Amino acid sequence: MKFKKNVSLAKHTTFKIGGPAKYFYIAKTKQDLIKAIKTAKELNLLFFVLGGGSNLLVADKGFDGLVIKYQMSVINFLPLKAGFKIVAEAGLPLEKLVNTSVEKGLTGMEWAIRIPGTLGGAIRGNAGAFGSSIADIIKEVEVLEITENSSQQTKIFKNKDCKFGYRDSIFKHNSNLIILSAEIQLKKENKKEIQKKMKEHLKQRKKTQPLGFPSAGSIFKNPKGFSAGELIEKCGLKGKKINGAQISEIHSNFIVNLGQAKAKDVEKLIKLVKQKVKQKFGIELGEEIQYLGF
Ligand SMILES: Cc1cc2nc3c(=O)[nH]c(=O)nc-3n(C[C@H](O)[C@H](O)[C@H](O)COP(=O)(O)OP(=O)(O)OC[C@H]3O[C@@H](n4cnc5c(N)ncnc54)[C@H](O)[C@@H]3O)c2cc1C
Repeated sequence: MKFKKNVSLAKHTTFKIGGPAKYFYIAKTKQDLIKAIKTAKELNLLFFVLGGGSNLLVADKGFDGLVIKYQMSVINFLPLKAGFKIVAEAGLPLEKLVNTSVEKGLTGMEWAIRIPGTLGGAIRGNAGAFGSSIADIIKEVEVLEITENSSQQTKIFKNKDCKFGYRDSIFKHNSNLIILSAEIQLKKENKKEIQKKMKEHLKQRKKTQPLGFPSAGSIFKNPKGFSAGELIEKCGLKGKKINGAQISEIHSNFIVNLGQAKAKDVEKLIKLVKQKVKQKFGIELGEEIQYLGF
């Protein structure tokens, strides 16, 4: 199996930050993926499955293992009485799912407009916005399970088996579960109504998020009953800069890369935010973003 060597991960993340992966491989089929994981296990290499890299902070020194970029993205629509059953591979860009749904007059994905990343990444983190999340529309998930003795088997997880919670799922707690594909059900709706909802969501996003700079979306999860952004703002940290990284002036739960940010700058800002919020409110903020190589 041929892996690329020393591939910059900054290019593969929306933050545009991070050092190289020692080895890098693009899996274009399920067999490719299985083979790559098997090889990594045989070589005693750490491996990491990358989606769209939109929820990720990669260390400046990079990742001393194999990054497998998951690019399988076939999508199939099967008509039902009141809507459609959609079967999509995990590498499908979420944006494509949103756009194809609206084209077909299907409701249920409007909230996801302009959320970057893949279906697999969205399922793992139970991505959501405007009071909805991917858990609402998932029927079942096809999963590759890597067992103790490094053998692999495919399993179906029904929605309740995924243990979805706020930005949470079973997949977040077990890196031996790789999401291969998912079955989604969406209902028919008037196309104009769908487009109207999406337009409103997009307007809100543009108004409240710093979309002009590289970022990884919200850095922290909202603690129960609080908005992480508001807590950060009340600590006077809005606009705070460390070298090329800045707590956004538009949305305090976003850290933006002003151009030359290093992971260590972002890391310092994250530490500072956690410390100040804890000091002022006694609340421990937990990260929504994932770390790689730290
Ligand atoms: C501008 C902006 C706006 C955003 N807005 C939102 C928002 O409104 N709501 C929201 O929830 N998020 C938002 N995000 C964050 C991000 O887009 C989502 O969390 C997205 O679902 C991450 O998917 P990804 O494919 O990019 O995952 P990645 O960043 O590639 O990976 C994230 C984690 O998922 C794992 N993973 C990826 N694919 C698989 C797979 N097939 N099987 C198992 N594990 C896998 C990775 O190993 C990693 O641990 C935003 C990000 C940006 C940059």
